[in-house]
Order: sequence, then C-alpha cells, then structure tokens
Amino acid sequence: MFQFAPIGVVHSCFREKFGIPRQPGLVSAARATLELLPPYNQPAAVRGLEGFSHLWLLFVFHGVPAGRWRATVRPPRLGGNRRLGVFATRSTFRPNPIGLSAVKLDHIAVRQGQVVLHLVGVDLLDGTPVLDIKPYLPYADRIVGAAGGFASEAPETGLVVEFDPVASEFCAAWPGDADLRELISQILRQDPRPAYERASPLPQLHGMKLYDLDVRWETRGRVAYVTEILEREPDKVSLAKP
Ligand code: SAH
Repeated sequence: MFQFAPIGVVHSCFREKFGIPRQPGLVSAARATLELLPPYNQPAAVRGLEGFSHLWLLFVFHGVPAGRWRATVRPPRLGGNRRLGVFATRSTFRPNPIGLSAVKLDHIAVRQGQVVLHLVGVDLLDGTPVLDIKPYLPYADRIVGAAGGFASEAPETGLVVEFDPVASEFCAAWPGDADLRELISQILRQDPRPAYERASPLPQLHGMKLYDLDVRWETRGRVAYVTEILEREPDKVSLAKP
C-alpha cells in the first residue's frame, strides 16, 4: 500500500460543497491560495514554477465520506438520471478520493518564510489537502481534437443573475479583495442546483457559504435573484484568506 501526506492546504472562497463549479476555469473569479506545508514550505521547492501560467493539482476530496464509491454514478451533466462507470466521470465518489484540477497560477508569494501560491479559477473546497503540484505543459497536456465523451462542451450557463439593491450595495462595499458581485454572478450563472431541482417550475430558495458570507438567492424560471448577503461567524478551518 501507499501512504501520502499532503504537501499543502488550500484556502478557498468556497466554504461548502454546494455552489462550487463542477470543473476549474468555469468561474474565473474564484480565487484560492495554496499554502505549502513543512518540509516542502521552502522557495527552493517551487523554483521555476513562476514561469508556468497553469498548474495541475492532485488533491484529496476530503469533504467526501470515505468508502462511498460505486461502480456507476449519475453525472449531473446527464440530468442525474443516466448511470456511467465511475472511471468515465469526474465524480468525487471514487475508490481513491483523488481530485485533479488544472488551475491558473496568478503569482507566488513568499512572506516570512511561508510559500503561498495564489490561484484563480478553482473548483476546490476550503481546506482541501493537496498531494502534488505539477506544471501544466501545453505541448503535452493540450490535446487538439480530443473527444470529450458525454461532456464534449462546457456546460451551458443557463441563468440570468440579478441582485436585490441592498445585496448589490453590499457587494460594492465589501472590503474583501475579490469582485464579489462578479464572483456570485459567475457562480449562479452556472446554476449549481441538482438536476431534479432545476426541473421544478416553482420558485426555490438557496444559500451558499462564500468567504465568511452567506449568499442567498431565489431561482424563478431562468432568473437567479440574489435576495440577501449576510456576514457569518468566520470559519475555524481556514487560517488565511485567499
Ligand atoms: N476537477 C476535479 C473536481 C471535479 S468534481 C476533478 O476532476 O477531479 C468538482 C466538485 O468537487 C465540486 O463541485 C466540489 O463540490 C467538489 N469538491 C471540490 N473540492 C472538494 C473537496 N476537498 N472535498 C470534497 N469535494 C470537493
């Protein structure tokens, strides 16, 4: 058997699974930091990495209960009603709960001996343990003409996002270093609801934790209306803000 210890931990704007985009790059405003852990926490270990615009991250789906894999899964892309083999999907319920994401490397910061990678376009839950970082190699990893099976195109961005005036003002006044309105808009445009809820004609209320905020919205037909944004107690898990 093998045993791996994380080389780093992610601090992400996504503080719960609901609402996280289904792949990296779909929400370009989603930021995270990756903090290297000792003994890898040294500038020497990332020397040369700054020359790459994108990275592969191998990580653990730590938010998925262990031992829950099945031979077949129902990908949300297929409306949640067709079963495919687990190895034909990017499901988080896998025999070895290992995730793989290509993310944009914005910059690398070294502060008081701590190496922090600033990432953009992530699909990672806050606290995600990272097993490895590899540079994205365009000449080898970008495969022109590759077939995408049941997911050959990016998912449709179905919803129109509107803000209650108070929620809109909240975004404008929010002191964090992300464009909150743009981030929420990009997330809700993807329509994070499970397929069975998408099918319902009735208005629905939803909420998600983003940074130390509770974002609430109502889905009415093709519109996601952001009703309110509230401050929460800061999470204990994340020590550094992205
Ligand atoms: N790009 C990755 C992940 C795809 S699944 C891969 O292909 O392996 C994407 C989903 O993973 C997101 O919607 C999010 O809900 C979930 N996710 C992200 N980080 C997670 C974590 N640490 N634990 C459990 N689920 C996670």
